[in-house]
Amino acid sequence: MKSAKELQKELTYSVGHISKTNPEMWAKSVDFCEAYKDFLSNSKTERESVSNIIEMAKANGYEEYCPYKKYNAGDKVYINNRNRALMLSTIGQLTVDNGTHIVASHIDVPRLDLKPMPMYESSEIGYLKTHYYGGVKRYQWAAMPLAIHGVIYKEDGSFETLNIGENENDPVFYISDLLPHLAKDQRERKMNDVLRGEEMNVIVSSLPFTGEGADEVSEAVKLATLVYLNETYGLTEKDFLRAEIEVVPAGKARDVGFDRSMIAGYGHDDRVCAYTSLMAELETKNPTKTTVTIFADKEEIGSAGATGLCADYFINYIHNLALMQGVNGYVALNQSKCLSADVGAAYDPTFADAYEARNSCYINKGAVLTKYTGSGGKGGTNDCGAEFMAEMIALFDEKGVCWQSQELGKVDQGGGGTVARYIAEADVTTVDIGVPVISMHAPWELVSKLDVYATYEAFVAFLNR
Ligand code: MN
Ligand code: MN
Repeated sequence: MKSAKELQKELTYSVGHISKTNPEMWAKSVDFCEAYKDFLSNSKTERESVSNIIEMAKANGYEEYCPYKKYNAGDKVYINNRNRALMLSTIGQLTVDNGTHIVASHIDVPRLDLKPMPMYESSEIGYLKTHYYGGVKRYQWAAMPLAIHGVIYKEDGSFETLNIGENENDPVFYISDLLPHLAKDQRERKMNDVLRGEEMNVIVSSLPFTGEGADEVSEAVKLATLVYLNETYGLTEKDFLRAEIEVVPAGKARDVGFDRSMIAGYGHDDRVCAYTSLMAELETKNPTKTTVTIFADKEEIGSAGATGLCADYFINYIHNLALMQGVNGYVALNQSKCLSADVGAAYDPTFADAYEARNSCYINKGAVLTKYTGSGGKGGTNDCGAEFMAEMIALFDEKGVCWQSQELGKVDQGGGGTVARYIAEADVTTVDIGVPVISMHAPWELVSKLDVYATYEAFVAFLNR
């Protein structure tokens, strides 16, 4: 007869801290995350992410995809979707009607976009008006250093790339909050209202124009700002109408903790999955099945538009590959498997009430496999079938990938979605997986280095199966 202890060990399931179960992973994680921190610090917008990833891809033998060209097993291509989304792909030994291996992350992050006509002055302070993008707690963005990133086109068709506030010697920008001494009325506001959308005004200047005829104009601070932008970049106010400019937290990703076990950074959601899948894709040589590693835009606002995954660009790519190989593209999609690579909401003991502890993910316990997301009775989710769950669990167990499971918080506490449903709706078998994150969608989010590395290993296992 087996003892109760033996039976318990055999029959129950729990996941341990990676440092206890896989002590050899720590050193690898630290190395891997040094490069990740650089990537994160230098990729603060979707455009910067696209251009950095293309640069890395080219250095690893990828060339720009041409739909009319013939590709062979082992060839590596990239598909730039309007400078805001991207796909990397390695052609497999088998034709695509045997299925492809897709990993889909997103490179857009909650932030403040400049409005089309952003400039104004009030009480001789120069401002830029913003429209927040994605699910932000707006109050978190006040009273902290902000940077301005983006692209702005000029009358003559040329453009300027802006990146101000990241260099130590750069100025930063600032959204004000009310001093506590006068915040009696503000304290009565509900959380979502602490800072209202039209209060997200970025302070950019405070000196008036003092040149010739200064007395004859109103709004001299705005004029001085325009003169500066004109002298520095050749811009006029009209040029803001042909621009995409994002206000983001200024500064680099940093180690967190005495033990340096974690990283605080802007945009772990979802550039941590973008980077880990990128590394796995770059290293994939001559895979059995064609890999398609997607870096999508617009996930944070519902995957809309030509660069979001509601658009058909990855479907079209797979159909184009099928055409090239003379096989059936619909079969290719139907036979394809996808990891929807997005972050999980790590259990936060300080706010334990929001989570269901048995079905939460935890930092330092590995990549989090998420059967379903959604809200209000699984609304809006891709609910992965038991068959593909079984397939992925078997793969990760066989390859020694550290993984865990979760659902997003307590039932009826809220919820959310990922790109999984849009890929699944193209007839592709899909499941969610990613890195657990604390303070998701805050200006500075928190991840553990061990989880970053474990998630990279999950993508390596998947793309090379
Ligand atoms: Mn995400
Ligand atoms: Mn998100």
